[in-house]
Amino acid sequence: MSTDHDHPYGKPITVMKFSDTGEVVVDNEEVDKIFNHPEIEDRKIVILSLIGAFRGGKSFLLNYCLRFLYANYSSINDPKIADGEFLFEKDKNWMGICDEALKGFSWRSGIKRDTVGIIIWSDVFLHTIDKTGEKIAIFVMDTQGLFDKHSSPTDNSRIFVLSNLISSIQVLNLANRIQEDQLQYLQFTTEFAAFALENTIENVGKPFQNLMFLIRDWNNGDYYNYGTVGGRSYLEEVMKVKTNQKPELQSVRKTIASCFDEITCCLLPNPGKGVSRGKNYNGSWSEMDEDFKEELQSLVESLLLPDNLIKKKINSMDLNVKEMKQYIQHYLKLFQTNQIPKVSSIYELTVERFMNNMIDQCVEDYKLSIYRNEDIINEDNIVEIHNKCKERTLTMYDDEKKMGNLGHAITFRSKLEEDIEKYFVEYRDQKEENLEKLKEARAKFEEIVKKD
Ligand code: GDP
Ligand code: MG
Repeated sequence: MSTDHDHPYGKPITVMKFSDTGEVVVDNEEVDKIFNHPEIEDRKIVILSLIGAFRGGKSFLLNYCLRFLYANYSSINDPKIADGEFLFEKDKNWMGICDEALKGFSWRSGIKRDTVGIIIWSDVFLHTIDKTGEKIAIFVMDTQGLFDKHSSPTDNSRIFVLSNLISSIQVLNLANRIQEDQLQYLQFTTEFAAFALENTIENVGKPFQNLMFLIRDWNNGDYYNYGTVGGRSYLEEVMKVKTNQKPELQSVRKTIASCFDEITCCLLPNPGKGVSRGKNYNGSWSEMDEDFKEELQSLVESLLLPDNLIKKKINSMDLNVKEMKQYIQHYLKLFQTNQIPKVSSIYELTVERFMNNMIDQCVEDYKLSIYRNEDIINEDNIVEIHNKCKERTLTMYDDEKKMGNLGHAITFRSKLEEDIEKYFVEYRDQKEENLEKLKEARAKFEEIVKKD
């Protein structure tokens, strides 16, 4: 049996779990450890998440994702080169040697149910986009203990939406087919998206990025081929609205497209007896049926090749790691109850974080324009220059793609003005003090000159 601890470069970290009484327990220290790293804080962020029922092969698949990532990307704990940039070139043999034991997230953990929670791989992968030079950090996230007979639909829905909020690629791992009741996990997500769309004044794109339905042990290969092409046709069929479906699931079907930038589906064949039932199976690919191995390989590449990486966005803006950490901590806090938070509270929190970040950037812009005028600022023109810089920054704010409704736009504009005025008072006091000191120093200097 594999253990978590034998991977040379990383380990699974539980950042959030459900207590026995159903409360969400968050490990903020661990969140800090994973996201606070000078190497990554300004990088744009990609988070791959897998979610689905216990013993569905999620951690197994994620460990092959880790193999791909370690073979092809540099990481904090396994830097490919010390200085400069590591250029991506696909290692054709990224699957490793045929009987190599599978390490990483703990998998095949037996009949005992895992702790329910969200687990993030402690190491972070680094990539620089060739054409733009943009730097990216890639995170891998596992979930466990959900979507089985022990977990309630509300638990499932809230973890589903929480992991959507945190991830940029969400893979929903399902056995054999998409079952009608599994679509209800998506209901909360669609409600959140509908609320966001209704409450926003600007057209800012969809709240979430990518959703993939991943169907394991697909045994309908005569109708739909394996992989994402067959998956697309299958998904189209499942997503058709029919009158005999429950109203809430009809509504999920109608609105799901407005929640995600892209929805895909991938059909995987059965991996073969050695993988699904092998007693002492170590996770190596030597035991996989050939068609499974090929499809697994293309799936991992379709998720993680540089051109396929999906960045995390809020309000159509790419987030960096530092900002993402703040969102994650706020979201986790909001979910720290044994009830489902209201969609309106999640949305409000998102708007607040987004707009606070925006006005922080605006204040930085104001400071910069003041510094540019530093040499010509004196007692007579200081207020005039301040007003000019403030106007410029407020115009910049008015032109920005804001999040939320008109009320938010107005409230945060006033907050921006307040922040600017507060900074200006500090600046002027400092300046006056400096001028005073300068005067004193000059007087002293003149006295000395006189004496001499
Ligand atoms: P998790 O609970 O969803 O994380 O499942 P694990 O990754 O721990 O895997 C549970 C078991 O499923 C392991 O014994 C794997 O060998 C096996 N497994 C992995 N992929 C597949 C698959 O596609 N189909 C089947 N039937 N079993 C799989
Ligand atoms: Mg697992």
